[in-house]
Amino acid sequence: MTNLQRIDSLESLPRDELRVLLETHTQDDAEALFARARTIRERAYGSAIYLRALIEISSYCKNDCYYCGLRKSNGKAQRYRLSKDEILACCEEGYAQGLRTFVLQGGEDPWFNDERLCDIVGAIRKRWPDCAITLSLGERGRESYAALFAAGANRYLLRHETANESHYKLLHPSEMQLSARLLCLRDLREIGYQVGCGFMVGSPGQSVDYLLDDLDFLRAFRPEMVGIGPFLPHGDTPFANEPPGSPELTLFLLGLVRVLLPGALLPATTALGSSMQDGRERGLLAGANVIMPNLSPAHVRGKYAIYDGKDTRGMEGLCGRIEALGLEIGTGRGDAVRL
Ligand code: SAH
Repeated sequence: MTNLQRIDSLESLPRDELRVLLETHTQDDAEALFARARTIRERAYGSAIYLRALIEISSYCKNDCYYCGLRKSNGKAQRYRLSKDEILACCEEGYAQGLRTFVLQGGEDPWFNDERLCDIVGAIRKRWPDCAITLSLGERGRESYAALFAAGANRYLLRHETANESHYKLLHPSEMQLSARLLCLRDLREIGYQVGCGFMVGSPGQSVDYLLDDLDFLRAFRPEMVGIGPFLPHGDTPFANEPPGSPELTLFLLGLVRVLLPGALLPATTALGSSMQDGRERGLLAGANVIMPNLSPAHVRGKYAIYDGKDTRGMEGLCGRIEALGLEIGTGRGDAVRL
């Protein structure tokens, strides 16, 4: 089978064929995949690209993930947390700019207990009833997720990071378990959230086999959202000297995931935009349909440093760049399409 034939029958491709495609594709194969991914996105979403206001609420974290600059052992990390008023001001700003999804992301910061978070989520829900509230605050208990859902949250992003058990162990200290993460994802879905998972491309120790495990996992779990970005090293972590992940392979995987999960919300991630100047645009051309401009207050943007060289761009010029690709800015919340 040629790679072009493989791309045409991707949906039912057995693992070994998918491996061949990942290992042997040419630039022409990638272009053919991206064209197919764009057609499939068009069928599901038309030409709409959805923007999400990314609000980084805390750089404190109790975890020690080896790849992340916010890990608790990084004594050089600059820590901050936003107040309720600051968070509401970010939403206000985002709403005025036309954004209808607010993403509250942060390290696993125990200060943001259920009481404080439910108060904030409830206030956003009350003031902007037409908006979606997405949380990305790591692993919490089922009761916590349920309380936040009841307070008005709709979506939750929790990347699985890698679907392979031994790879997970290589990226995280022993207190963290893949099984715990998967349990969170199942709880979130059962509670009623639209759920996002995802992984880094080129994280230390990643093999093609592990990527196939990730794709198998996505095909089985069918998340509403999938976040995929290249691994980028942070100088004050154990992975400081590891090479960055390939943006080209990231784009290829975005295209594959669009074909495998036609109705998924797929961001052209900040990491992709950080690893190549036009990464976000190229992500859209590979099949992504979401961009998350940074709406955090200017004085904290440099402090949410999960990797070096992070792109902190907000809305400046973004709509024009999307429209220049022949795409348009989606209005409304932009929920996932069920296909
Ligand atoms: N604490 C939250 C949010 C973490 S930041 C949570 O655990 O979900 C969101 C994502 O950034 C992580 O899930 C991880 O996949 C990614 N990330 C962290 N460090 C990174 C690095 N060095 N390079 C690229 N992506 C990274």
